Order: sequence, then C-alpha cells, then structure tokens
Amino acid sequence: MEKICVAVRVRPPISQETSSGTFWRVEDNRISLHKLHGTPISGISYAFDHVFDDSCSNEKVYQLLTKDLIHAVVDGFNGTAFAYGQTSSGKTFTMNGSSNDPGIIHRAVTDIFNKIQMISDREFLIRVSYMEIYNEEINDLFAVENQKLQIHESLDRGIFVAGLREEIVNNAEQVMKLLESGEVNRHFGETNMNARSSRSHTIFRMVIESKGKDTSSSDDYSSSDAIRVSVLNLVDLAGSERIAKTGAGGVRLKEGKYINKSLMVLGNVINKLSDGAKQRAHIPYRDSKLTRILQPALGGNAKTSIICTLAPEEIHVEETKGTLLFASRAKRITNCAQVNEILTDAALLKRQKLEIEELRKKLQGSHAEVLEQEILKLRNDMLKYELEREKLEMVLEEERRSWKEREQRIRDQQMKIENLSSLVSNGDRSSGQGSMKASPKEESADKGDGFKTPCFKAAPNAFVAKRSNYSQLSEFSPLPDSFSNVADEDTWFKMNKGYIADLDSLQRTPERKVQSFPPQELTPDCSNESYKQELENLKRLIDIVIEEKNELQRKHTEQTQLNDRLMGEISDLKQEALLVQEMPQRLCESLATCKDIFEDVLSKMQSLVSDRKPSTAKVLSGTSDIGKTLFSTLEAHLSMAVDGSKSSYGNDSLTQECNKKLSEMLKNTITSLIPSETAGAEEEHVKAPLCSCNKGCTLGGETACWEEKLSNELMEVKEKYENLEKELDLSNKFLEDSKERYGSLEREFQLLKEERDSLLKTVSESSQKLTLVTDQKENVLKDLNTEVQRRKDLEKEIKHFSVAFASRQKSLMSIHG
Ligand code: ADP
Ligand code: MG
Repeated sequence: MEKICVAVRVRPPISQETSSGTFWRVEDNRISLHKLHGTPISGISYAFDHVFDDSCSNEKVYQLLTKDLIHAVVDGFNGTAFAYGQTSSGKTFTMNGSSNDPGIIHRAVTDIFNKIQMISDREFLIRVSYMEIYNEEINDLFAVENQKLQIHESLDRGIFVAGLREEIVNNAEQVMKLLESGEVNRHFGETNMNARSSRSHTIFRMVIESKGKDTSSSDDYSSSDAIRVSVLNLVDLAGSERIAKTGAGGVRLKEGKYINKSLMVLGNVINKLSDGAKQRAHIPYRDSKLTRILQPALGGNAKTSIICTLAPEEIHVEETKGTLLFASRAKRITNCAQVNEILTDAALLKRQKLEIEELRKKLQGSHAEVLEQEILKLRNDMLKYELEREKLEMVLEEERRSWKEREQRIRDQQMKIENLSSLVSNGDRSSGQGSMKASPKEESADKGDGFKTPCFKAAPNAFVAKRSNYSQLSEFSPLPDSFSNVADEDTWFKMNKGYIADLDSLQRTPERKVQSFPPQELTPDCSNESYKQELENLKRLIDIVIEEKNELQRKHTEQTQLNDRLMGEISDLKQEALLVQEMPQRLCESLATCKDIFEDVLSKMQSLVSDRKPSTAKVLSGTSDIGKTLFSTLEAHLSMAVDGSKSSYGNDSLTQECNKKLSEMLKNTITSLIPSETAGAEEEHVKAPLCSCNKGCTLGGETACWEEKLSNELMEVKEKYENLEKELDLSNKFLEDSKERYGSLEREFQLLKEERDSLLKTVSESSQKLTLVTDQKENVLKDLNTEVQRRKDLEKEIKHFSVAFASRQKSLMSIHG
C-alpha cells in the first residue's frame, strides 16, 4: 500500500501585471497564500510531496516526480501520471514540454528505452497508443477513422478500449514520430484547436511486456517463464475550470457539460477514495470514460503521481484554490501496486514445485514462527483463489446473461424475418413473379468482411506467450446502481470552486509540429462486439426493408386504384366514341326515311297536278330534281362520314359545287315558270298550298321561298355535320390521350414491380445474413462451453489445492503438537 504521489507546479506569470492583494508563496514542499505585505492568509497553506515554483524546469519535475514511477513500470508495475489544472496553467507544457525543455512524455519514453537497453537478461515488447476523450467519446489519435471507441473488460486484458490502434515500437524516435502524427490527427478538421484541447483529455499509453531470456541451464526457474505486463498512462486532462455556465450556446455548452461530467466523476472518485478504506462504498469508476480507463490507476493496482498545475495570477486565485483542494484530496488516496506477472502453465507448475520445496526445507527447520507465517501465507493464497473463483463466476454470469439477451434478439429478428417473408411470398403469388432465392455463394462472398473473425496482429520478432488462466485479473468495479451516486454540479463546484475562464484570452503551449501520417491497418475489434454491432445493423436493415415494403404496397394499391379508375374512364370514352361513330349511320337512316317521305309527297303532288297546268308540273319535277340532288349529296357526305373520312374541309368544295348546281336548277325552274305566269293568274289556288311562307306570293316569289328554305336546311345539315365531325375529332384526341396515359401508367407499374423484386432480393439477403449470425451465435455458445469447462477445471484444482493444504495443515499440526 502506498499513497499517490502529488506535486504542485506554479507556472511563471504570463503578464507583468502587479498584484494588488495576494500572492502564492512556495517554500520547500509547501505552498501558501500571502497578503501583499507578506502575512500569510490562515487556512490556505498546503503541503505536498513536491511543490515546484515557477523557475522549475521540466527536467527537475521529471527527476523528482516521475522518474521512479517510470522505472517501476519497466519493472512490471502499472504507472500513471496526470496533469490536472485550469486551462493555461501549464498542463500541456508539463506533459509535452518545449523544444529546449522536453516534457514528461518525451523524457519518459527516452528513459524507458535507455533503461531496457541496460537490462540484459530480459527481452521487451513495447506497444504504444494515444487516445483522446472529447465529449465523452474516445477517439484514436493514431487512426482518425477510429472514432467513438468503446471500453470493454475481459479476463485476459482487463479494462481496454476496443479497436484502439496499438503500435509496436523499438525506439524513442519512433514514438516521437507517432506522437506528432497523433497531434495532427487530433486537430484534423478543427477550426478552434485551443478550445478543443482545453476541453478534451488525452491519454498516451505504453504497454511494456517483458520476459526473461532463455537460460535453460539455470535452476532458477521461479520466474523465467513468467511474462510481466505493465501499463503506463500519461494523461493531459482537460481544463478544470467551470465552463458549463458561461452562457455560450450550442456546442460549447455541450462540451462544457461533458468536461464537467468527466472531471466531476474524477473528482468524485478521488473524493470517495480519499475517504479511506473504511468508508469506501461504491466507487463510481463506470460513470465516465476517463475514470473507467484509469480505474487501475485510481485506488487500484498502479503507482500514480499527479501534478497539479497552478496559474499564479491573482485573477485565477479561486480556481487555484480549487486545484489545491483537489490535490490535497488526492494526497490521501492509497494504491496497492504489484508486479503484474502472467504465468504460463509451465511456469506456474515450476513455481509451485519450488514453493513446496521451500516449504519442506522450512518444515525441516521446524521453526514455529516461520511455520505460522507460512500458514498465514497459505491462507492468504486460499483467499486469493476464492476471490478469483468468484470473479470468474461473475464474468461467467455476465457472459451468460448477455448471451441470453443476444439469443432473444435473434429470435425476435427471426420472427420478424418470417413475417416479412410470408408477406413477401403473398405478394409474390399475386404478381406471379419475383424470386426469394438469391445465390448463397454470392451472399457469402458479399458478406465476407462483415463477419470476418478478427485477426490479432502478431508482433514481429516478439516472443509468443500463451497466457494462462491465472493471468492477471482485472480489478472489477461494481456495476453502478444509479447515477445518483455521482456528485452533482454543486458538489463539484464546492470542491473545485467556481472559477469561470475565458478560454480564448488564455495563452497555451504551442501545438505540435504538423506531419502527415501514413494510413495503417485497423486494430481488430473484439468479435463479440462486432457480432453485436452486426446484429444491430441487421435489425436496422430489416426495419428499413419492412418500411420500404409497406410503402411499396401502399403505392401499389394506390396505383391499382388509379388504374381501375382510368380503365373505367377509357371504357366510357370508348362507348362514347362508338356512339359518335354510329351517328353518321343513323343520320343516313333518317336521311333515307326523309327521302322516302319527300318522294312520296312529290309523287302525290304530281298525281294531283298532272291534269292541270304544265307549269306546276314543271315546278314539281324541278323540285323533285332538286330534292334528289340534295339527298344524293347528303348521302354521299354521310357515307363518307361512315367510311371514316375526316376531311370535312376537303369536301367543302363538293358541297359548294352541289350548292351551285342546285341554285342553277332552281333558276332554270323559275325561268321556265315565268312565261306561264301571265297566263295562269287563275291558277293561283293551286300554287297557294305550295307556298307556305307567303299567301300572296307569286310563282317567282314562291320559288325563291323554296330556294331559301332549302338552302337554309342545307346549311343546317351542313352545320350539324360539321359539329358531328368536330365531336368525333375531339373524341379521337381524347382516346389518344387516354391511350398514352395508360401506357405511362403501365410503364410505372412495371418499374414498381422491378423495385419490389429488388426489395425481395434484399430481404432474402437479410435472411442469409441471419443464418450467418446464427452460426456465430453457435460459435459463441461453444466458447461459453469451453469457458464453463475451464471454470470446472479451476474448481477442481482449487479442490486439489485445499486437500493438499488440509493435509499439510494436518501434518503441521502434528509437528506442532
Ligand atoms: P494548459 O495545457 O494547462 O492549458 P499550457 O501548457 O498550454 O496550459 O500553458 C499555457 C502557457 O503558459 C503556454 O504558453 C506555456 O508555454 C506557458 N507555460 C506554462 N507553464 C510554464 C512553465 N513552467 N514555464 C514556462 N512557460 C510555461
Ligand atoms: Mg493543454
């Protein structure tokens, strides 16, 4: 058990403004607030492991605060160094440094490589990663495409960020280059870099694995096969000032909230940890990404140092007090760091043998104190195994639960797909085409990358080690009951004071050099995760397909209705057209009847007048001629109309000719009547009935009257005929339009049909996907079974151990007795 190492660093004042009331004084390892004339302000004085004044260089900070930590990391301990403080207080300056005074990160990297060069009996493998937490989202700074990464926990790896790129490095220069490109990625597409860097946390992480070199002749096999894995986190936190309530709207407000949340949870975790082991209840590591990732570094298995940076200006005094309060709380936290060794099965066996051997030797010495110590140690070991077993059970339970959930989801999906396919097959039957079957070969080829088993990148020239079941077990934090455990803003406010900073007016460490970064392979994700994601995608896809199908069905019914309506209209129009076509025929018929009547009347009149005046007979015959010509013209026109000839205008000349002919005939009749007019005055009673228009008219007048009447009639007939023809034209046009519309509708219908077919294809694809998912599920099930088997084996071993322990205890007792 050891306390967290806490240091405070005051940066040099930026402006030369003279302080009017107070100033911070640094003496040895103490910092206190003084009035201008020198008297200390009571209650505001803090002591820490180190207090660095403004003349202190990064070199000194590194030597005094972080060097030991870095060396411990090389020896197999986890280590974490934080920089905490308000914006512009010098966090980035401390972590990154400047070109003539490199910061902690640079020095640590160089130091690590120097140190491992000096260790000749172990071989090392070093991996680095660089991430940023911005708005509670984890982004990979080594690969811009890796955004919004998730945190996972596994037995082998403990808490880890899934999909984060880890680069294997062999020297410090390589790391520096990677860091530079990381900085470039961090500001990719950023318009306001300063604002972002003060609102985000960055974590630079080094994982150091080491293994003793093969010394096969050596008898000291206690740790030669064990692998040490240690993690170093170097964290540049976001500015600790409160910016949530600056009143800035939109993005800024949201960012403020998240920073507050992450730092608030960090403050809260530190608060709870500093309460001491007895009061420690639930530590809300899981409430923010930052605390979750740094869980082992906070009250867990890690050596931790925090450097709190302060701005000396008087305007920042409230925020500085907040930072000091945070630092003094952190000072109270104790961690329990231990070397992280992963034992391969062979190494474990060897080590146990060795332990038994030692025990036997000690037993032979039979020193009571030693024996008691051994018993205690064994008991502790027992407890440790018990704990491990419990943890395993917990993990198994979790696994089982998530598996059940997954199965349920798959069942739901299957039901949905079944519903969908039944719907689709119904639709299919009605349309008589469309196929549900897509080539399965094609499918599997298509979906190949979606369900690829993730392959883990093998380390070049690295030793390969099988991690045993006894590998390092991560510290589990209990699941959060609710967020009510998290300190609210007011608590945070009280703890960290309420300084509000204008970020834009602050000066900052210049950003790193910009440099292009070659795109590299993605770090593989955990298969479980990708499986879940795939399932989600599938679900979404199916929903979309269902929606599309419904939409299509709706459209289809609408189209059918429209089609029906149009068909009705078309048949109406056809009937009308038929009627119009029949019209000339009917006119022909009525004309024939008229002609018959006319001839009848004429013949009757002729029979009446035959024995009277020849002039009358002449008139009658003329009239009959006229009538005949008239009728024949009409007949010709009508027959043309019946035959479908449309050129009424072309026939106009014909009509006019007829007209002329008729008028000539009329004239002839009239002139033939004129000579007999004088002689036949007494025959007026005969003529009278012939003229209906004027009783007192003469024969000439009578003829004119006839002529007029006939021409009127002719005009009427002509007019009627023209109207009819126009109507016919209109009908034809209408018919044409309808035909066109019908054609376009049919085309549309065809398109819709095609669309539906493609949808059907998609559905079948989805079902194929589902089969794949089911396969994966089975694999997961298999994994689970092996997990169960492993657990059983472990239990068995524990039993063996306890039996051995019992027998040993018995023998010890007997010896003791
Ligand atoms: P933060 O990361 O906390 O927002 P910066 O590291 O960007 O703050 O520091 C703000 C400014 O102060 C920068 O211009 C930086 O160079 C300067 N600065 C900070 N600490 C020191 C120091 N110890 N010595 C010299 N300059 C410093
Ligand atoms: Mg900074």
